[in-house]
Amino acid sequence: MRTAEQKKILADQVKDAIRSVIGPGPIQLHEPTFHGNENVYLKECIDSSYVSSRGKFVDRFEKDLAEYTGAKHVIAVVNGTSALHISLKLAGVLQGDEVLVPALTFVATANAVAYCGATPHFVDSEEFTLGIDANKLRDYLEANTKQVSNNCININTGQVIRSIVPMHTFGHPSDLESLISVANDFNIIMVEDAAEALGSYYCGQHVGTFGKLGTFSFNGNKTITTGGGGAIVTNDESLAHHARHLITTAKLPHAWEFNHDEVGFNYRMPNLNAALGCAQLEQLSTKLESKRNLFNKYQRAFINLPDIKILAEPVKARSNYWLQTLLLNKADLEMRNLILEITNEAGYMTRPAWNLIGNLKPYKNNPSMELNCALSLEKKIINIPSSDDLTVMRK
Ligand SMILES: *Cc1c(COP(=O)(O)O)cnc(C)c1O
Repeated sequence: MRTAEQKKILADQVKDAIRSVIGPGPIQLHEPTFHGNENVYLKECIDSSYVSSRGKFVDRFEKDLAEYTGAKHVIAVVNGTSALHISLKLAGVLQGDEVLVPALTFVATANAVAYCGATPHFVDSEEFTLGIDANKLRDYLEANTKQVSNNCININTGQVIRSIVPMHTFGHPSDLESLISVANDFNIIMVEDAAEALGSYYCGQHVGTFGKLGTFSFNGNKTITTGGGGAIVTNDESLAHHARHLITTAKLPHAWEFNHDEVGFNYRMPNLNAALGCAQLEQLSTKLESKRNLFNKYQRAFINLPDIKILAEPVKARSNYWLQTLLLNKADLEMRNLILEITNEAGYMTRPAWNLIGNLKPYKNNPSMELNCALSLEKKIINIPSSDDLTVMRK
């Protein structure tokens, strides 16, 4: 155990290491940066009067994203949460179903499941990727499910476990090979929450394109932003077609009639947001390079602090390094909180990981496996300033 004095020394060392890389504060956790054609494209939008749900930038953003990710079809939507909602519906998630989601994720992953009338069922993480632990999940499913006409039934609740949503935490790809094998063996459909992972690859293939559907977010704090926005990606043409239908109020094409053939949604991304997205996407490779650069600098700065490591990309993966992540060597809530206190006081915006979703009020009584690793990670993780211009402009 560390004494109070040792803890104070370590917290100060963390603050000093951060300062040695990014200079004096105040510095936010993650700020958007605009160094390209943003003004030009936005002006073009306004001058053309196409600012809303139709326009050439929506088409172009979808085409550019398809090219970048290698997905056959991309559907731009209003945010990452709506992308997940539609993707889960299209994966066949029905009222009463269960969907496996990491306990350690942003609440939106679970909310999208709840919007379908389904139940988020929480699973544990592992230390190397911060994603779902596939081996532990396999053992859990073997002990707690049975197959009935190619459906995976939770024997404790009697409900179908329809889908699994791996989330690529802070941009680090999950162990997709093992997760795909578990999903296939148990007849569970994979939908990827790649909200944080644009620019991340697993075995050379862009994440988000491994599941039946995948989703991205372009919120203001993500690697590139459209202000607010998201995207659904899939290689399945009929799912892509249905996704477009659902996000445009399920309106049947007709010159003047309002005919809708199911309960649809108003989830289309406006042209203004897509214009911003096109300009941001042009700068993605520069942003990724700066983020990797920042990681390398932090890694050197933290090398002399043996009680703390900075999370590097997993094997077989290339990370976008969206949020830089410190990991305490031991789960120590008091130590974590002292580091958060001292760094924030010094003007460096640092943040803990999310509270485990199963501890939140709406999800308290949900099914869950035992969560040893996620519980320990919750007490070990600290995200530190990660904007892409921190090494370029401010030093
Ligand atoms: C950001 C994020 C989302 C949701 O994206 P929004 O665009 O904010 O709706 C979903 N899941 C994860 C893991 C995220 O980080």
